[in-house]
Amino acid sequence: MNITRSIYLDNNATTALAPAALDAMLPYLSTEYANPSSASEAGASVKKVLGEARVAVGRLLGASPAELIFTSGATEGNHTAILGALSLIKGRRHLITSQVEHPSVLLMCQHLERLGIEVSYLPVDAEGRLDLADLRAALRPDTALVSLMWANNETGVLFPIVEAAAIAHDAGAFFHTDATQVLGKLPVNAAASGVDFLSCSAHKIHGPKGVGALFVRKGIALPPLFHGHQERGRRGGTENVPGIIGFAAAVRLLTNIEHEARYLQGLRDHFEQGLLAFMPCARIHGQDAERLPNTSNIGFIALDSEELLYRLEQEGITAAAGAACAAGGQEPSHVLTAMGFSKTAVLSSLRFSFGRLNRSEDVERVLRVLPGILLGMMDMPPMTAAGAAISCAH
Ligand code: PMP
Repeated sequence: MNITRSIYLDNNATTALAPAALDAMLPYLSTEYANPSSASEAGASVKKVLGEARVAVGRLLGASPAELIFTSGATEGNHTAILGALSLIKGRRHLITSQVEHPSVLLMCQHLERLGIEVSYLPVDAEGRLDLADLRAALRPDTALVSLMWANNETGVLFPIVEAAAIAHDAGAFFHTDATQVLGKLPVNAAASGVDFLSCSAHKIHGPKGVGALFVRKGIALPPLFHGHQERGRRGGTENVPGIIGFAAAVRLLTNIEHEARYLQGLRDHFEQGLLAFMPCARIHGQDAERLPNTSNIGFIALDSEELLYRLEQEGITAAAGAACAAGGQEPSHVLTAMGFSKTAVLSSLRFSFGRLNRSEDVERVLRVLPGILLGMMDMPPMTAAGAAISCAH
């Protein structure tokens, strides 16, 4: 029997539900089932708890409760912001986003292009960075919205959201950010950042799946995606009460984000330094950019990432290929492709994303098993001399 603890290094895909979030949710999955819109006493009590959850999530985001709409996740938040902004400024038929956005933004933009909306996709450099001069150049008198992610889910690279929002506003356009990956990893203040719309998701911060929030700056009457009376007419549909309660419980655990960020960065840096010590030719994507403290996207120089992923899984270690989001397909990551890497380089890259449940022993074990796996994939005998480096010339 394999009693080795499994090591989960795919926290950008999703995180384990925090026990406190589960505990908070359970009553709302059983006895506390009243509809918060019901005039009954039980309904009023659920409505009150939802109000408290809204205050808690708002505090994390730097938003007043009235500026928050609970959604089914970041995908819905992204779609509400993009479609809403287009219908808010009549006559503006142009959108700006980047080539490295999450598919929930890119596929919506492609859908809108088929309906006659024009979309500009901003490039990034080899480190995954955005050049604000490209944003300035892409803005047009008919640009309705600029939508840029705060942190990239594959590389962790951060975009200069505050500056980008100001530039969009100077051109009279709205500004939306997909803050799904930055939430809980770095401090976020929606109001102070100057953005008009910000979307996020609970399951990236140890909350449940299927729930998230959209910040809509005070004073903007963003049209809903789902029409109905809930969420003050801004998002119809009976609220996902257990989900929202679980989301707020996960948020309440984020008492010291800076501290957690330092912890995650310690794990990540230990991993990267250890890896480079035995494989100096491994490439850390976005290394010279500002990036999330927990994310490490590594190019393993022509080794097949699917095979590497499989061999790691055999050792109880879960990481991700950049292509994981593309339904397990072999499509090379659009993010690394936009950064200018060849198809071979992209298909030999893996993402390791650390979370609060990881320990430094986990990093140690990954660093112990990885050299043998890599050498095995190169058809070379396992390392015998401690500290021997894996050569790039294979
Ligand atoms: N945007 C980003 C950057 C993400 O990482 C994700 C989750 N993979 C989403 C949007 C979609 O979030 P959700 O699953 O809540 O719809």
